[in-house]
Amino acid sequence: MTIAELLRSATQANASSDSAALDAALLLAHVLNVDLSYFKAWPDRTLSDADQEHFNGLLQRRLEGEPVAFIIGRQGFWSLDLKVSPETLIPRPETELLVEKALELPLPEDASVLDLGTGSGAIALALATERPEWAVSAVDCMPGAVALARGNCQQCALSNVQVFQSHWFAQIPPQQFHLIVSNPPYIEEGDRHLFEGDVRFEPASALVSGPDGLEDLRVIVARSADYLTPQGWLLVEHGFQQGDAVRSLFKAAGFTTIDTLTDLNGRERVTLGCYTVAA
Ligand code: GLN
Repeated sequence: MTIAELLRSATQANASSDSAALDAALLLAHVLNVDLSYFKAWPDRTLSDADQEHFNGLLQRRLEGEPVAFIIGRQGFWSLDLKVSPETLIPRPETELLVEKALELPLPEDASVLDLGTGSGAIALALATERPEWAVSAVDCMPGAVALARGNCQQCALSNVQVFQSHWFAQIPPQQFHLIVSNPPYIEEGDRHLFEGDVRFEPASALVSGPDGLEDLRVIVARSADYLTPQGWLLVEHGFQQGDAVRSLFKAAGFTTIDTLTDLNGRERVTLGCYTVAA
């Protein structure tokens, strides 16, 4: 079979995925250890039996619902190619909105930044890549995530990031950051969304946050004030129906200049605020 034939038949077999063609291409690129552009250049190359068999095994996993990112162990985020594992959330495109906004804020050139619940390290590493002068601390409560984020940090050759284990602020020594960012768990317990698609394969600890999905955001917003410089910023991702509730949390914790950004689907997704200490 040629590359073009295999990709075509795999796309047909996987028709229930809304990214069937891309899924097939990513799996085959992984098997052949090539970039996606290779397929445009060599559509007529005949595949070896071993490569076809390897590919079919991976496609079968995909047909059973496993996310491509976990099958190939990688996911693109921002300009980075990150290692991912079932111990953490797969970085999502909507989280790039948070990165974009963080880069626009009025922050010192050598800002100190904290990423809470870093998972694969996606947000911390994207910020550290864009701002080599920033000092970025990234924490996660899961040892597997800490190891993964450290590995990604090494792979990206970043020397301005430190990753350590902490459950939110619990193990962070008292200090003040110019910016705190987080994509915490924010889905309601029992939400039907948890039984569909990729999230079925992701850890509940990275997704679910109590009966209303706000348990962790409450802690993060309330405690951030103790860890921010005057005029420091907090940016959090949240569920699209949580905008009102999150803005209220920010207000109650003493934040001003509170704003919510919408994602590409026009849904409220990221809220930010400035911690303004009364004179
Ligand atoms: N955005 C993810 C989803 O809805 C959830 C991510 C999170 O809980 N932080 O699948």
